[in-house]
Amino acid sequence: MIKLKQKIIKFAKNLNTTNLSPLRSGNLSIRYNLKNKAEGFLITPSGKKYDDISIKDIVFVSLKGEYDKKGLEPSSEWRFHQEIYKSQNNCNAIVHAHSINAVALSSHRINIPAFNYMVAVAGGFDIKCAEYETFGTRKLSKNILKALKGRRACLIANHGQIAYGASLDEAFELAEELENICKQYLIARQLGKPKILSLKQMEKVLIKFKNYKK
Ligand SMILES: [Zn+2]
Repeated sequence: MIKLKQKIIKFAKNLNTTNLSPLRSGNLSIRYNLKNKAEGFLITPSGKKYDDISIKDIVFVSLKGEYDKKGLEPSSEWRFHQEIYKSQNNCNAIVHAHSINAVALSSHRINIPAFNYMVAVAGGFDIKCAEYETFGTRKLSKNILKALKGRRACLIANHGQIAYGASLDEAFELAEELENICKQYLIARQLGKPKILSLKQMEKVLIKFKNYKK
């Protein structure tokens, strides 16, 4: 468990240095089962600057939503982590970031269309934007699950972005990729409406991506 906690801390600090989520915004987690077989995940704590977190601050939350009330509180956004782990068997780690370009684009509450073939990195023809709800609520978790259907990443309206993967490295890379895509799309929109790839063109990309990953 200590190794996984160290990994979370390393990547939490990376959130700062890569500008994915400055200071204490955003959060990340890794799927983890306790020795007594209780299923759950390890997550960054609530309201602590990433520069200041240590191993004792990482919180275990069970898939039933239980955690030790004596220690630090898990991130106030732990509920959508719980729901994603419960619904996606292939998810072992989640990165949630308030990265600048994702936040800017999410305020327009639009899905990112296939303006570039790299949109397929999230797993589909487009990248969805989850409908707005207050942070940390079950309602928001529901909206996020809907936007993640068939995808490994999505925007969250007026909030930010989420990416998940088979490992924290993978989830983090996808979050960085999504931040780039948001920046590119924002720039492309400055010249008007970009040309969008057809479903057929994106199908070819998705097949290539699938084979490439093997
Ligand atoms: Zn957030």
